[in-house]
Amino acid sequence: MRRGSFIEAERFARHVDKCGMTDLPLCFGVSGFDQTGSQNRTCSDRGRATRSCSASASRRGNYESRRRTKGAMAAGATRVTVPRLLVFDLDGTLWRPEMYELWGGGAPFKPNKDGNVVDRSGTEVRLLGNSRSLLLELRTDERWKDTQVAVASRTDEPTWAEECMQKIMIADGMNMKSTIDIEEIYKGNKVHHFRALHEKTGIPYDQMIFYDNETANCHDVGTLGVLCIFTPRGMTDGIWQQSLEQFAKAHKFGH
Ligand SMILES: [Mg+2]
Repeated sequence: MRRGSFIEAERFARHVDKCGMTDLPLCFGVSGFDQTGSQNRTCSDRGRATRSCSASASRRGNYESRRRTKGAMAAGATRVTVPRLLVFDLDGTLWRPEMYELWGGGAPFKPNKDGNVVDRSGTEVRLLGNSRSLLLELRTDERWKDTQVAVASRTDEPTWAEECMQKIMIADGMNMKSTIDIEEIYKGNKVHHFRALHEKTGIPYDQMIFYDNETANCHDVGTLGVLCIFTPRGMTDGIWQQSLEQFAKAHKFGH
């Protein structure tokens, strides 16, 4: 957890609201990217970042399309339509507050009526945006049958995070943990989390999407070729839909 980045993300999200911007994703990695990781400080800067992201995606998309078509013709590859691995950060992306903000409270957590949990000091840990319906869709919709779901977290309190995943409910009889195939929860640069995910699944980096509310993590993981989506307000429907569009642009051959 990088508290500075969390605060930066919060400030940025408020700034976005003030400027009336939509939650277009700021992306890093395979399909148009921000190699500096520093553009997201103002609306105008972010606008440039988004435009350069789109332009870059288009240029790279053309190149990627030609390269993939050529490669596919040679190798008889199958079409790519959806990512094979979706990776979510926990604190500030799937839920809020961050685990360190529960210090003084924390475990044990109690389930509440809306499917979230409350820590021993009465603070609620709640899923953000459309995280609940999204995790349900990923587990139940046929479209995602070949896609794995992972979490990559550097949370300060991994045992609390485990308990929250066990007790937060996505639907009747379905807890959050049961919707996640792989968990990589430990300290360190998230590049390590992704190398572990790659080794465990065999899935190429360019078949992954990563969602995180810290630009530094997006930038780091983006260097591997993973499409990384900055989520300053957590997993919203807008972010989700547009991330799939970004992925599709990077894999034009499949469409
Ligand atoms: Mg986070």
